[in-house]
Amino acid sequence: MSDLPVEGKPSVSTLKLPYGRQSVDEDDIAAVVEVLRSDWLTTGPKVAEFELAFAKFTGVLEAVAVCNGTAALHAAMYAIGIGPGDEVIVPAMTFAATANCVVYQGGTPVFADVDPDTLLLDATQVETRITPRTKAIIAVDYAGQPCDYDALRIIAERHNLCLLSDACHALGGSYHGRPVGSLADLSTFSLHPVKPITSGEGGVITTNAPDLAKRMRLFRNHGITTDHRQREQQGSWFYEMVDLGYNYRLTDLQCALGLSQLAKLPGWVARRREIARQYDLAFASLPAVQPLVVRPDLLHAYHLYMVRIDDRKTARSRDQIFVDLRAAGIGVNVHYIPVHLHPYYRQRFATAPGLCPVAEAAYRQLITLPLFPNMSNDDVNAVVTIMRQVLEPGYAG
Ligand SMILES: *Cc1c(COP(=O)(O)O)cnc(C)c1O
Repeated sequence: MSDLPVEGKPSVSTLKLPYGRQSVDEDDIAAVVEVLRSDWLTTGPKVAEFELAFAKFTGVLEAVAVCNGTAALHAAMYAIGIGPGDEVIVPAMTFAATANCVVYQGGTPVFADVDPDTLLLDATQVETRITPRTKAIIAVDYAGQPCDYDALRIIAERHNLCLLSDACHALGGSYHGRPVGSLADLSTFSLHPVKPITSGEGGVITTNAPDLAKRMRLFRNHGITTDHRQREQQGSWFYEMVDLGYNYRLTDLQCALGLSQLAKLPGWVARRREIARQYDLAFASLPAVQPLVVRPDLLHAYHLYMVRIDDRKTARSRDQIFVDLRAAGIGVNVHYIPVHLHPYYRQRFATAPGLCPVAEAAYRQLITLPLFPNMSNDDVNAVVTIMRQVLEPGYAG
């Protein structure tokens, strides 16, 4: 990419364009250093401060910070009491952690197919998967587009199920004017560096149910009733372990970084949406390159920008295009291999191809293109130009 023009401030395109990248500036660094100089590196005051800011941002009563997005999902499964014999419906098109959290608790993930236009969990497919053992639905805001929570809520209420949102892609988005994080009984987030904001590693669960928040705070701290700082404040050594929990805590260093990042999120989401619009416009004249459909009356947070390569409209295959884009310095990716196709799930739960045909067909067509707030317009134009080139029948690098 070193031959591409770079305008204004330095851009990562001089090296290689990744599909996603964090934005960390001097404010973020100062916030972390301040905690390093303080008395509390973990279980200190920054945790509650971050949780409060996160709850306010997502419009809920409670936010619980944990060490990563997978721990957030695990804590959510614990909070709603998932155990052996219980089934939880998850979309096939997601990261494995969405299903793994059910297995951690001894439950069974049941894969439902996605909508062919948006690749979001399809409410009518969810209904076909409900059995007397179904306890919950985990909707995934794939790519950053909120699912159809009104439709999912109707099904959840009709069958007395918990509705959860794996919103790891969608922080900063909204649905029918309501913020992501407030759309389900519990919503989970990841603060991994490629996600909308980062704390290095980190996770958050949001909810309006204080009893569930209390259970998750216990769960992240070994199932112990008080933490180190509470005991110190009470001048007491006594604590009780009342259930089996884990050490899933998020440090004060990480919470300080998360707080500092959260303040910048709205600007980053706006930039992500601008880049997505530029891609949409450019690809409107490339029939073989099809962006996913965006439903009306919602705000897509664009954690990821993926396109489908329609092999009826180009002589080149998705796999060839992928290799050529990588070779040209464009850090493309594929999100995701449908979870039920992974060897673990095939062996343990006897899943097989054909279970979720829409997700399986989409998987063979998808390419995720670079999208992150610090990407320059030149970077976007470079991706589009190279995409145009690699679609040519005789392209040879
Ligand atoms: C990133 C992600 C997770 C897991 O988050 P970690 O912080 O990496 O553990 C879970 N679900 C989805 C949809 C994700 O994108």
